[in-house]
Amino acid sequence: MSACAVVMMGAKGRMGSTLVRLAQEDPELNLVGVVERPGLEAGLEALGCVVGNSLEEVLAKLSNAVVIDFTTPEVSVSTAKTVAAMGHRAVIGTTGLNAEQTAQVRTAAEQAPILWAPNMSVGVNVLLRLLPRLVTMLGPAYDLEMVELHHKAKKDAPSGTAVKLAQCLAEAKGWDFEKTKRYCREGIIGARPEQEIGVQTIRGGDVVGDHTVYFLGPGERIEVTHRAHSRETFAQGALRAAKWIAGQKPGKLYAIADMLG
Ligand code: NAD
Repeated sequence: MSACAVVMMGAKGRMGSTLVRLAQEDPELNLVGVVERPGLEAGLEALGCVVGNSLEEVLAKLSNAVVIDFTTPEVSVSTAKTVAAMGHRAVIGTTGLNAEQTAQVRTAAEQAPILWAPNMSVGVNVLLRLLPRLVTMLGPAYDLEMVELHHKAKKDAPSGTAVKLAQCLAEAKGWDFEKTKRYCREGIIGARPEQEIGVQTIRGGDVVGDHTVYFLGPGERIEVTHRAHSRETFAQGALRAAKWIAGQKPGKLYAIADMLG
C-alpha cells in the first residue's frame, strides 16, 4: 500500500509542528506539503516538500492529499472549502467554530471526505461513549458539572472538548443543550436549576488539556478526569484519522467515533 500524502496547515504551530515531526517518522505517511502564514515559512524548505502561504497553490501541485488543519476557525472553514473544490480530503482539529462555520464545514463535507474532531485523543473519545452510561446509571439525582483547564495561550473558551462532552451529557439526559449549558455564574444566582450543565474554564501555564466531569449526588460524587500529558496524543489521533479518511467517501462530516467504529 502506498503512503498517505499529507499536507500540514499551520506547520509552525504548537499542534502543526508536532504533527510535522510525527508524520515524518511514520512510514505510512508522506509529508508532501506545508502551509504557513506569510513570513513564517522560513526553515520549512528543509522538510523537502512543497511549501507555501496559500493552500490552493500548494494543492495545485499535488494530487490526492489529506490536509491536516489545526489553525483557526476562519482558516479551517477555508480549508474545508478548498479541499472540496480541488478534490482533496481534510482532517480538521481546530476548535471554537461557531454554528455558521460548522455548517460551512458540513456543507463542504458533502463534496469531499472531511473529519472534524474537537479532540483527537482516544481517551476523550472513549469518554464520550462512557458518559451516557454513567448518566443513565446514576439517574436524575446527580447534578452535572465540568471544569476544563488549558494553557494560557488558548484562544477559545470553553474548550471544544468541554463543549463536546457537555453536548454528550445533555443528549444522554434528553435536554436541550443550548438551554441547559451554563458557562458562567456570578452574583445572586439563586439555587441551581435541575436541568443545568455547568462548565467552568481555567487558563494558565502550559497545561495541555484537563477535563473533569462531576456527577454530584446526595452524599457522594463521582469525578471523571481526562488529562492530556502531551500534544502527541492529539497528533497521533489526527494522523490515524488522516490514513482513515483517505479511504472514505464524501457525504457526511465524519467524527472520530466513525473511525473507531
Ligand atoms: P497555534 O496558534 O500554536 O498554531 C496555529 C498555527 O496556524 C500557527 O502556526 C499559525 O501561524 C497558523 N496559521 C494561522 N493562519 C494560517 C493560514 N492562513 N495559513 C496557514 N497557517 C496559518 O495553535 P495550536 O495550539 O496549535 O491550536 C490550533 C487549534 O487546534 C486550536 O483551535 C486548538 O484549540 C486546536 N486543538 C485541537 C486539538 C484536537 O485534538 N482536536 C488538540 C489541540 C489543539
